[in-house]
Amino acid sequence: MSERLKIWGLALLKKIHPAKTAGLLLDFIYPENLYCSCCGDAIDRKTRIHSLCDKCIKKITWVSDNPYESSMDDMAFDELYTCCIYGYYPRQMIQKLKFGEGRYLAKPLGKLMAERVLLSFGGDREKLKKSYDLVSFVPMAKEKQSGRGYNQAKLLAKSMAKELDLPMEDLLEKPKETPSMRLADKYERRTMLKGAFKVKKTAELKGKKVLLADDVLTTGSTANEAAMELKKAGCSFVGIAVFASGNGPR
Ligand SMILES: [Zn+2]
Repeated sequence: MSERLKIWGLALLKKIHPAKTAGLLLDFIYPENLYCSCCGDAIDRKTRIHSLCDKCIKKITWVSDNPYESSMDDMAFDELYTCCIYGYYPRQMIQKLKFGEGRYLAKPLGKLMAERVLLSFGGDREKLKKSYDLVSFVPMAKEKQSGRGYNQAKLLAKSMAKELDLPMEDLLEKPKETPSMRLADKYERRTMLKGAFKVKKTAELKGKKVLLADDVLTTGSTANEAAMELKKAGCSFVGIAVFASGNGPR
């Protein structure tokens, strides 16, 4: 197993041997990261781990399988890769990423997503490249994006694509903002999202295998609608990669 996959080994280990995990954390050293992407503390050279300090890495519930496995028949996407459960700390990280001061987090979080995807291919990049042609992302409505200045899903996709050495393409658009879905259930969300995404005219997608990035997946309705649109345009396989997800279908 490559060094880069150890964090997911950690997720597996936590299930079978919790006491060993703390010691193993010290093995995950990455020289490039200076600050923890969760608490913002400077990270000591000896404890640089996936841009997370060793305290924060233990607070996050890392995931090495697909928590939505039982509802995949109900989804238009074929595969889901999630790094962690959307608990308190990942929520703080995503908030930072979305609202200005944490825009730089897209790079380390996108890398984590790439590693999570690679884990599913046993770390074999060539195998992964046979399964995916390109990386894309869930779009934001224009108005919302111009207010924020960027789409965090696009930044994550860029970082992930670079890490996986796959091309990144801007395939989808969201012609208008959908109403807030915070209180809607899965079925209401699906109705509200119908037709929310359009494939860009320039996209040539017949037979393409697409890895679509987003920051978070909860009910899966957004990813489902985006994947459905890509399938309608001829994509043969759509995988969804997110930084955080719920812990199962709801
Ligand atoms: Zn930290």
